Amino acid sequence: MRRASWMSSMTALYPEKFVFDVFGLPKILARDLAKNLEEQAFQFKPDIHLGELATNLRYVETDHAKLIEVTTASGTYLSRALIITSGNGIITPRKLPNERADEFEGKGIIYAVQRDELHGHERLEAVTVRDWRQNLHKLEIDALLPMIGFKINLGPLAKWGLELEDKHIKVDARIRTNLAGVFAAGDVATFDDKIKLIATGFAEAAMAVKSALEYMHPEQKVKMAFSSVSGVPAAKI
Ligand SMILES: Cc1cc2nc3c(=O)[nH]c(=O)nc-3n(C[C@H](O)[C@H](O)[C@H](O)COP(=O)(O)OP(=O)(O)OC[C@H]3O[C@@H](n4cnc5c(N)ncnc54)[C@H](O)[C@@H]3O)c2cc1C
Repeated sequence: MRRASWMSSMTALYPEKFVFDVFGLPKILARDLAKNLEEQAFQFKPDIHLGELATNLRYVETDHAKLIEVTTASGTYLSRALIITSGNGIITPRKLPNERADEFEGKGIIYAVQRDELHGHERLEAVTVRDWRQNLHKLEIDALLPMIGFKINLGPLAKWGLELEDKHIKVDARIRTNLAGVFAAGDVATFDDKIKLIATGFAEAAMAVKSALEYMHPEQKVKMAFSSVSGVPAAKI
């Protein structure tokens, strides 16, 4: 298992805001909720690879099964089923809508200030920024408000042959996409009257796991179980 930084919408976009509508939690900071979710997942010691962009998907036929191969910069991963939970996808700055904007990018038009270094002890006291001539300047500051606009981009998933609707992946009532063995849950998944909430993402993830198990074991009836009653069995897939 390799651990790296994990930036969900909660940790990237609103870490210091309270969330009031996750059932059973009267109110919780988004970053604490993300930390709790991470702790909950890691207690079962899953094999996790973070900080890798999934770029390609293809099917690989073996003697026994049709497998799904996902490629990242670090290698390839084979699986019998795949659940996509890519949320808002890749986040990039909104570009100035001017025909010469590209020409001057990095030569006067800068979409994000490059802060090469943060300085401080108890709190942030100064930043070092790089100007367009690549000169470094150390600036003393009282506060840093990084209000950097972004736009949503599905990223490489857009080329995987998935049926899309308005930059989201269409799923049916069993959270299946149009590709065999590929499911989608959370913000990236769409269906009629979809509500983009943390709570609905949780429910869709559970449904996606059930559908994935049914896909992998068509000969068996997948039985629903309560973790409070039957505990958590070691993964058998
Ligand atoms: C400002 C704001 C406030 C909100 N407040 C609330 C609230 O109070 N209550 C509530 O219920 N909901 C709230 N939401 C909605 C909630 O944050 C989302 O519904 C939820 O975070 C979606 O979770 P997710 O796992 O589907 O996606 P995300 O949390 O966006 O996670 C997707 C992950 O996939 C990664 N990823 C994307 N593409 C790839 C790729 N190709 N390869 C590898 N990784 C990839 C991303 O980097 C990210 O880590 C809010 C949303 C915003 C923007």
